[in-house]
Amino acid sequence: MARLVVAGHGMVAARFLQELSALGHDHDVEVFAAEDCEPYNRVLLTDLLMGTAGGRDLRLPGIEDPRIRVQRGTSVASLDRHNRRVRTSDGTTVGYDHLVLATGARARTVDLEGIDSHQPPTGVHVLRSIDDAAAIIAAASQARSAVVLGGGVLGLEVACGLARRTASVTVVHPTGVLMDRQLNAGACEALQTTLAAMGISCLLHTTAEKVLTRNGNLSGLVLSDGRRLDAELLVMSCGTVPETGVAQAAGLTCAPGVLIDADTLATEDPLIYAIGDCASPPEGSSGLVAQGWEQARRLARLLTGSPVAAPSRTPAPTDVVRVKGGLDVVSMGVNAAASTHSSQRRIQLLDASAGRFVEVVVDGDRIVGATAVGAGSTAADLTAAYTRAIAVPKDPAQMLIRPSDSAAGRTGSPTTMPESLTVCSCNGVSKGDLMRAWEAGDRSVAEVSARTRATTGCGGCSDVVAGIVEWLAAGDPDQTTSSGALEDDTQRKRDAHEMEMSRG
Ligand SMILES: Cc1cc2nc3c(=O)[nH]c(=O)nc-3n(C[C@H](O)[C@H](O)[C@H](O)COP(=O)(O)OP(=O)(O)OC[C@H]3O[C@@H](n4cnc5c(N)ncnc54)[C@H](O)[C@@H]3O)c2cc1C
Repeated sequence: MARLVVAGHGMVAARFLQELSALGHDHDVEVFAAEDCEPYNRVLLTDLLMGTAGGRDLRLPGIEDPRIRVQRGTSVASLDRHNRRVRTSDGTTVGYDHLVLATGARARTVDLEGIDSHQPPTGVHVLRSIDDAAAIIAAASQARSAVVLGGGVLGLEVACGLARRTASVTVVHPTGVLMDRQLNAGACEALQTTLAAMGISCLLHTTAEKVLTRNGNLSGLVLSDGRRLDAELLVMSCGTVPETGVAQAAGLTCAPGVLIDADTLATEDPLIYAIGDCASPPEGSSGLVAQGWEQARRLARLLTGSPVAAPSRTPAPTDVVRVKGGLDVVSMGVNAAASTHSSQRRIQLLDASAGRFVEVVVDGDRIVGATAVGAGSTAADLTAAYTRAIAVPKDPAQMLIRPSDSAAGRTGSPTTMPESLTVCSCNGVSKGDLMRAWEAGDRSVAEVSARTRATTGCGGCSDVVAGIVEWLAAGDPDQTTSSGALEDDTQRKRDAHEMEMSRG
């Protein structure tokens, strides 16, 4: 039996082991997990902070496979490629025929005057692990003032979570625009209205330079513009760094993650693979779980000799960024922050005092990008129109307020969705996959999710999946009472359901 060692047991390794087990592998698998707990859904840590998810919601499906052993609380400390063995944090040496690196990423921290990295003051945190989330929740209950350093997507989600637990929350961001990879000044202005209503202040064009402490506890910050802020809790939300220490020390090229081949997922050492946030494939790492889960599926198939499709060079659009935490912000494709190509039209609506901004970027008769802040159902319609590449109406401005008949007006409808439409981008599940699950006998969201895995990533597709399941139930011939005019009856039920959904 070939010996397979897996370093890391996060979201991607857990999915890899599930896939391997389901394919009926012939390996003796040893997994080393730095964290001393079951693997969990890291994407939902901000929901934990917000109180909209509990520990149980973060559970990932377990596997029972006697050929897979997991050592929790034990890291891979070093790698000896010449002798094909790893040394672990408890001093054990384990040989391998194949090694999978799935060590993820860590939160980037910034050096601030007053922080001793060996003994940081109480109150300074990052959010990457479930222990980090628990520590932030505990600290927030004691803190009167909290500061989030970094106003990107994660920083804003953290700020929303803290606003439910702490009296004063301030986001400090170095540029003039929050979420500056996605938004422009107008969108940011609208977003700030919503944040202010949630009790979150934003200080732009500045950053922290120094922390102030009292008896080893954080008490404040000095900013680069000289201002002083009270702060008993600081969460640094300044991006992530791939966890590549072991790979780098063993001479594998890292830039910034471990370099891998797109087809084989192997590093420059053909016996060592890297998947998930620690890896850098040729197209770059997205830092999103969908990419790692696709690599996990592919590697399991490669290692079991199962057929593998060629990687798609032009995948369906999965660049839709949706902010969690009660902030109604969605951005996709060419976003508000990007400059527009000469062939593209940019149509905007800004209603800053109402916290509303909508922008559509059109090339020819297609949407190539859209941004929606505080725009309610318009955001869902624009997302559907973008991911389905639907032709826009003659006057694209119609899409900014009420979707038109030819585009977004019916895009959210299960009836008009093509079967190929990706519904769950974390797991690459299409409407057709959900229909096949229904045909195979699944009759509830829980059942279709268990089979297809839709909704098990960020959960952003839950409403759409529920809508499709309701639509399938409304048209299920098994539920018709008359044997005659079955198709007509089925269509009538679906039409009635459509009307219900559009009213809602
Ligand atoms: C708060 C938060 C919100 C997020 N929101 C989203 C989102 O909305 N959508 C989205 O797609 N993605 C989101 N992400 C990113 C997503 O969580 C990651 O893409 C995903 O977790 C990557 O999985 P992974 O297995 O590669 O890494 P991880 O899940 O980080 O797992 C790596 C594991 O390896 C362990 N490890 C590290 N070094 C070693 C070693 N030497 N030996 C043994 N074990 C080791 C680590 O402790 C960790 O347990 C979010 C992340 C965070 C932190």
